[in-house]
Amino acid sequence: MKIVMLGAPGAGKGTQAKMIAEAYGIPHVSTGDIFRANLKEGTELGKQAKVYMDKGELVPDELTVKILLDRVAKDDCKNGYVLDGFPRTIPQAEVLDKALSELGESIDYAVDVEVPDENIVRRMSGRRACLSCGATYHIEHIPPKKEGICDTCGSELVLRDDDKPETVQKRLTVYHEQTQPLIDFYTAKGVLKTVDGTQPMDKVFADIKAILG
Ligand code: ADP
Ligand code: AMP
Repeated sequence: MKIVMLGAPGAGKGTQAKMIAEAYGIPHVSTGDIFRANLKEGTELGKQAKVYMDKGELVPDELTVKILLDRVAKDDCKNGYVLDGFPRTIPQAEVLDKALSELGESIDYAVDVEVPDENIVRRMSGRRACLSCGATYHIEHIPPKKEGICDTCGSELVLRDDDKPETVQKRLTVYHEQTQPLIDFYTAKGVLKTVDGTQPMDKVFADIKAILG
């Protein structure tokens, strides 16, 4: 099963993608996580991506598409995957579509997690991320057992640089301009499914499970 998660930054794509990955036994592929891992390791890709990420802009398609296609070509993606944060532009979606159709494959579901902009800034300022294992928490809604410490790996949790309110506003504008058109793109392909992302995380997941079967 190949799934694309759509939705504004902070809508809960990553939270739901992790739950889907675990329940359906497929890898969770997040381009944001790949960039952050590269940044942490100090690679050239990480350094290039940081310039855009810190401004709340998209990393250029030339850099992003290749890392995604390399990732989904790996063995563990043979039976499908859940993409989180990719595609984010129509050209990215077209490249993915073409690469899949050359293999006689296609995206099965594009799940749009809908959350109004008003809720997003609050979500993002409360988000705490583990840069070691990629786990995500929310200080009010989904707190870690011990404040500031990752339940999964014990590392320190951080507020991502790009989750500061001024950057979040820019990311929302970028989302509406460049990513939201993907809703029409996947609607036209007949695979778009919408869920109400303002519900508690388990309820959102129950709705997604009802769609995926
Ligand atoms: P995205 O991957 O779409 O950017 P995340 O999954 O990281 O978003 O979620 C953004 C923030 O909102 C995180 O702090 C997360 O813990 C929290 N969150 C996710 N889902 C919900 C929900 N259903 N209700 C409340 N908070 C949520
Ligand atoms: P995320 O973790 O998905 O919120 O992504 C964090 C940041 O990484 C984004 O604001 C972009 O700067 C960059 N990024 C992640 N995925 C993509 C993508 N598919 N295309 C362009 N930039 C991306």
